[in-house]
Amino acid sequence: MHVVDLIHKKREGQSLTREEILWLINEYTAERVPDYQLSAFCMAVYFRGMTQEETVWLTEAMMYSGDTVDLSLFGDLSADKHSTGGVGDKTTLIVAPIVASLGGKMAKMSGRGLGHTGGTVDKLESIRGFQVQLSPENFLRQVQQMGLAVIGQSGNLTPADKKLYALRDVTDTVDSLPLIASSIMSKKLAAGSKNIVLDVKVGSGAFMKTPEDAKALAEQMVSIGKACGRNICAVLTDMDIPLGYHVGNALEVKEAIQVLRGQGPDDLKEVCMALASNLLSMVRGVSLEEAETLVKESLSSGKAYETFIRWIAAQGGDVAMVRDPSLLPGAKDHFEVTAPRDGYIGKMDTSLVGKASCHLGAGRETKDDPIDYGVGLVLKKKTGDFVRAGETLAVLYANDRALFPKAREVFLESLTWTEKVPQKQPLILGIIR
Ligand code: URA
Repeated sequence: MHVVDLIHKKREGQSLTREEILWLINEYTAERVPDYQLSAFCMAVYFRGMTQEETVWLTEAMMYSGDTVDLSLFGDLSADKHSTGGVGDKTTLIVAPIVASLGGKMAKMSGRGLGHTGGTVDKLESIRGFQVQLSPENFLRQVQQMGLAVIGQSGNLTPADKKLYALRDVTDTVDSLPLIASSIMSKKLAAGSKNIVLDVKVGSGAFMKTPEDAKALAEQMVSIGKACGRNICAVLTDMDIPLGYHVGNALEVKEAIQVLRGQGPDDLKEVCMALASNLLSMVRGVSLEEAETLVKESLSSGKAYETFIRWIAAQGGDVAMVRDPSLLPGAKDHFEVTAPRDGYIGKMDTSLVGKASCHLGAGRETKDDPIDYGVGLVLKKKTGDFVRAGETLAVLYANDRALFPKAREVFLESLTWTEKVPQKQPLILGIIR
């Protein structure tokens, strides 16, 4: 086979065979195909697309390009959740212990935050002592014993995706549906779970800005998952507004603990309920209604909270910080952002809210930047709220007061003001099964 022939085929809008795709990805991973040829191939895919079959073959080729996790020990009970990334998204901290408390085996690999979106691993590391690196044996043993472990991405998982994603990043070919869907799904499938719920975020704080794009991505990912023998569904959720009120690592852990204790904001509870119920219904083979009842019970009885505590303890985290969240990392200084005018908040550019939190030190621009776990912001008002001039919109937290002016400016820039009551948007925009 010759790479140039495959580039030509795709450039002309033809379909590649399974063998051709597998060969191309294998050769690229083994560094026998140069970046410039794969760049041309990605650009051809960008313009010509891929058939559903080609997308599945590409996903499989990347999934098997490195190690895969064998969760067969857990039969049909293994469960995983993936979010396409948002602002204030602490749902894993809530959904994972709920599902584990009800018999699911959550064996989860999570990422770190990058850019304006946060990452579960950073949030967990804000709890003193929490270990995100476990040996494969300890990872499986913990899942077996208590139904739940979350670790950072480790080992040699999907090296083809790693190389390809970096290449797409610098050749402006990230934004291609088959390439995004195969990239995300190759990692999820390599992580081994039988049951997968995808949280596909839609809106200004999300990768997918419109419901149409998010739906198309969700449909592709669900069909890839099914073609590869997994139970899978996608919940489309609104990210035109931050989820909950807390943005920043330890701040988000605090808000997750509130929900696990039966309090916390309604929007966060609603999204967690949808994700946990859909996942549980696949894991236990029960109806969605039955799953919802079980999830509610787990929260109201404290079972999910107890599972959270056992999980944090099992991975070396300081449980005193969970029992008393005021012990979690905090910030030396705070600053209240007040409203410059009367009016309704008509919209929040949610990526700017995430960026304001990053300016305070809660996120990173490049993958090696350090993180300040105690900083971030707490919203006091959100889209739809009426505000009087001078009222507090948000409280910013930082360890360096010099960071406040820029973060304030970015935060205020995120807001669109209106005179009329803005229309309320649904939080759950659809479910793809
Ligand atoms: N996230 C991924 O993992 N891959 C993509 O291509 C886009 C987002």
